[in-house]
Amino acid sequence: MMARYAPWWVVHPTDPKPVPRRPVRLVLINPRSPESFWSFRWALRELLPDKRAINPPLGLATLAALTPVDWEISIFDENIEPLPTDPKADIVGIGGMAVQFPRQRELLHYYREKGYHVVIGGSYASLSPSTYEGLADTLIVGEAELVWPEFCRDFEHGLPGKQYCQPDPVDLRHTPTPRFDLLNLSAYTTASLQFSRGCPYLCEFCDIPVLFGRKPRTKTLAQIHNELEALRPTGIHDVFFVDDNLIGYRPRAKALLEFLAEYQRSHDYPFSFGTEVSVNLATDPELLGRLRAAGFRWVFLGIETPDMASLAEAGKKQNLRGNLLDAVRVFYRNGIDVFSGFIVGFDHDTVETFERQYRFIEASGIQVAMLGLLTAVPRTPLYERLQRDRRLRLDVQPGDNTGGQTNVVPLRMSYDEMAAGYAALCARLTTHRAIATRIRNKLRYYRESPVPRQRDGQASRSVLRRLITRGISKGGLGCVASFLWSLWGVRPSLWSLACQDWAAGFSIREYTQRYIQNPPLEERMFTERYISRLARKLRNPITKGCFKIDLEPFRKPVRLRMVIEQKCGTLDLKAALATLDHLLRGFRTLTLVLVLKELPTGCNLYLRQWIDRLGHYSDRVTVEWEEALIHGIDSSRVAVTTRTSG
Ligand code: SF4
Repeated sequence: MMARYAPWWVVHPTDPKPVPRRPVRLVLINPRSPESFWSFRWALRELLPDKRAINPPLGLATLAALTPVDWEISIFDENIEPLPTDPKADIVGIGGMAVQFPRQRELLHYYREKGYHVVIGGSYASLSPSTYEGLADTLIVGEAELVWPEFCRDFEHGLPGKQYCQPDPVDLRHTPTPRFDLLNLSAYTTASLQFSRGCPYLCEFCDIPVLFGRKPRTKTLAQIHNELEALRPTGIHDVFFVDDNLIGYRPRAKALLEFLAEYQRSHDYPFSFGTEVSVNLATDPELLGRLRAAGFRWVFLGIETPDMASLAEAGKKQNLRGNLLDAVRVFYRNGIDVFSGFIVGFDHDTVETFERQYRFIEASGIQVAMLGLLTAVPRTPLYERLQRDRRLRLDVQPGDNTGGQTNVVPLRMSYDEMAAGYAALCARLTTHRAIATRIRNKLRYYRESPVPRQRDGQASRSVLRRLITRGISKGGLGCVASFLWSLWGVRPSLWSLACQDWAAGFSIREYTQRYIQNPPLEERMFTERYISRLARKLRNPITKGCFKIDLEPFRKPVRLRMVIEQKCGTLDLKAALATLDHLLRGFRTLTLVLVLKELPTGCNLYLRQWIDRLGHYSDRVTVEWEEALIHGIDSSRVAVTTRTSG
């Protein structure tokens, strides 16, 4: 197929220099991420209906800033908005991480088939470029600051290369302010900034030292000032410094915190910050004090495990230098909330490890405890060691480590024991009682609330009302009792923090129930019976060959597959919608896959509206069609995927 970039400049017969007729048009896309521990879908859906996702795609906004100023650029994030089926563009650039790879592949294929020049980049393309062989016209490997402008120049001259590789770490002091103006920031709960890249530590499983090196590089304070100034008029208050370890280079971290404290003071504290740091920050009271003074309200710590042998095995030396529980409480005492990652599946882990993890997480009071299975990401020391030992499962894609699957074959327990122990631990951590216990174990260490004073009292009250009506009261008497117990004797100034933890707890609980736990036997039997009733109800259209229904109750999540044939009419669809709606509302662990062989004739519009209505169930509904995008269907509301067979 003729590439679309060819016609936008012409060559005069006597002058070989290309004469541009119009600017190059670039569309940048962040593919939809599958639901995970990190997506907090319950809180977004039930409490913050005007928000669609947690973080905007900062990498794409930075790439846009590196693009020639006369190019026309637009950014689409499939997590918050539909993707254009036929964008007015010369180049379609797709980014993303390993978890987004299946969707990246579909979109690359779709836009390439349509004749666009398709570029792929992002962390997974940098870690595993061979995975993308043949999928894109141009592959960007590594940091983009130097190679992206080079690609743009080559493209303007009609000679885009196949691969641009950045072998060495780039100097961040020249990175421009991200094009925040191209992002719909109001659709996210948090904006993102980056001060540094790289981490001095070398945890065996981590891809950061591989991607960004061990010598942390930082932006200048003037750059951060410009970025804050660009964000301030947007009205965004919550800002996440996406640095992998903000204190990787302490002298510069200190200077940054001092600058931020001054900035906040002089602008009446417009921002509330969060970031990732290593646990050993707890041993540096001066730096911790500066973190708090700068307006940091939460940190993400990589605690991973309370087992010293497993920490030593993973090379996580910075976690071995003190008592981890004490470290967490130091943050609480300084008014900083703690989120943390935990991992099971290290070589030293046995079936007893699950109990130790549970006791630690409970005692620490950490509500946002991202529990994952050890996963080997390509090019990490762990991946290379396990490859040598032939302990990699090649049938599992190393992406999200919180989905109950991993590519690592464990050493001191069987794979099934590990998966079952993991599912049981996730379930235990998300009972109402466990959520409440952790809140109490946390709040007793607080001297003041880390939740900033509310700027919009009415909005906060309505979030609280929704939490009570859609979460607490729906959880039954046990949930109400646990909620009240979690607040019992707690200072009212800390109640907002407790409510935040309940929202996080409900979100993680919903994800766990749907994707990690095995659905209870009674629920599976009940679903089966109900589906038989559905089949009876839709007997006529099924006999006419309009639908095929098929239930897979023993997989996670329980999946109802409905094939809609071309002969299906509006009346048949109406009957099906009423029952499916009822079914999805009644069975929270049920997911629905609608397979469209062809768009039914005559009820095209109705079908699109119908699918749009099912968008209320978000990740629970997937539409399979022959293409990755269907005109008129919002792929940010229901997952649209390419039908591969049958
Ligand atoms: S401290 Fe964190 S970012 Fe640094 S290597 Fe270890 S896991 Fe990676």
